[in-house]
Amino acid sequence: MIKTIGIYLAIVMAFTACSSGTKSAAYPEYERVPASIVEFEVASDEQTLKDIRALNTALAANRTTEIKKDIDRRMAQILTRTSAGYILMKDFDKQLDAAVAQNQGFDLHSNSTYLKLQKTRELIEKVEMRMASVYVHLWKLSLGIDPFLDKMSATRKTNVQKRALQMISHAHAKLSEFSADARLLGVMNLKNHLEEITDNLSTDINMTPSSDRERGNKELYEGLVTTLRGIQAREPEAADLDYNEFIDQMAKVKTADPELKETMEREPQSNVVVEGFKNKTGSDFGKNKWVLTFDDGPHKEQTKKIAGILESNGLKGEFFWLSKLVKTLPSIAKDIYDKGHGINSHSIDHSNLPKLSTSQVTNQVSGSRDVIEKQLHDKGASSYTMKNFRCPYGACWAPKSAKVQQAIKDAGLTHIYWTVDTLDWQDKNTQSVLNRIIKQMKASGRGIILFHDIHPVAGNVLPILFKDKYVTDNSVQWLTL
Ligand SMILES: [Zn+2]
Repeated sequence: MIKTIGIYLAIVMAFTACSSGTKSAAYPEYERVPASIVEFEVASDEQTLKDIRALNTALAANRTTEIKKDIDRRMAQILTRTSAGYILMKDFDKQLDAAVAQNQGFDLHSNSTYLKLQKTRELIEKVEMRMASVYVHLWKLSLGIDPFLDKMSATRKTNVQKRALQMISHAHAKLSEFSADARLLGVMNLKNHLEEITDNLSTDINMTPSSDRERGNKELYEGLVTTLRGIQAREPEAADLDYNEFIDQMAKVKTADPELKETMEREPQSNVVVEGFKNKTGSDFGKNKWVLTFDDGPHKEQTKKIAGILESNGLKGEFFWLSKLVKTLPSIAKDIYDKGHGINSHSIDHSNLPKLSTSQVTNQVSGSRDVIEKQLHDKGASSYTMKNFRCPYGACWAPKSAKVQQAIKDAGLTHIYWTVDTLDWQDKNTQSVLNRIIKQMKASGRGIILFHDIHPVAGNVLPILFKDKYVTDNSVQWLTL
């Protein structure tokens, strides 16, 4: 049960990973080693692997204070980056309000706040994924199923297992502390995902422990659930947050986040640098003509729900999926295809393409196309051919992106950008997402709307959007690509 790893609050998915019980033949003392802890795909980037090696060394040498500090630093980083995203979103909404009030257009491509938001999202996901990997690694150690323990004496192994368990407890305690800040800063992603986990965890909590170790795990689960239930995220007041103050602080405080600071200073770039690179933005559509797009899935519940809403309104959508998720949910992919929706690629695993080597980029573009086509063909959709690709984070514009544009062109695909961003990855409030969509629709008059089918937001917003006065009064037409 590998979930949408690397997408959104991966730390939360690591917690979710505790949810399903299974038997471990290799370690019979555990009645239940959660399957998804065993199967969790640890991030394979160099930094994460380095982090895990350092963690092993520190655990073996009993340098637990050092590990605790490291956990604290990661948690703080998640919080500062998520907060930065929230502040940027509020800033974005303000600029949008002004554009609508003055009857001006609003172009995402050249809006520097929007570009910073995109970049911030990537940074949030990166730190979450690393934290999740460390967290799952700790679980594997504590459960005695990590190869690092293989060559150790029994005593040494037990000690490392105990320390790993202590570190998990520390992570949970930190999460509890963190929740106070979540309340202040309104980290809505966190709240929503944590609630989902609480539900998932209940299965394990109800298990009857048959050993001391299982009782220990049970206590840990229960402690975590108490922490999660205590989190009450709220919308921050204007006085709580100040973007400039935040940036000033970032430069001063010890936990300064150089990557994030660099993002804040980055200027927008948007160039087509490869001749013949085909890109659709929707800006040349006829008036009031729109395309609905859904990224980052498929998701076993949300994708089906969205398709159901579209169907009941007689509409078709365009899905931009990660090939590694299509592989795990081929039947859903086939079902969506059969219903007449567009199936497109959004890379293998949501990597930031300009940062990869040329051959890696080719793999992400052509490779993901091949995988998705094969999955659909194998399910019987023999005439399916992929036509479109969308870069993760929209990252194929900076001058560095020539290789990305070239790979898309070489794969015979058209890049699909977007005109309206719902910001549903950051904002979980149905009404404010709806307001943001309508304002951008007013400012642009036509184009492509971006949702994500891995979150419940689209499913909540769409039924209201289709009935909105702006949409009905302007006889908005929903098209496909
Ligand atoms: Zn995406």
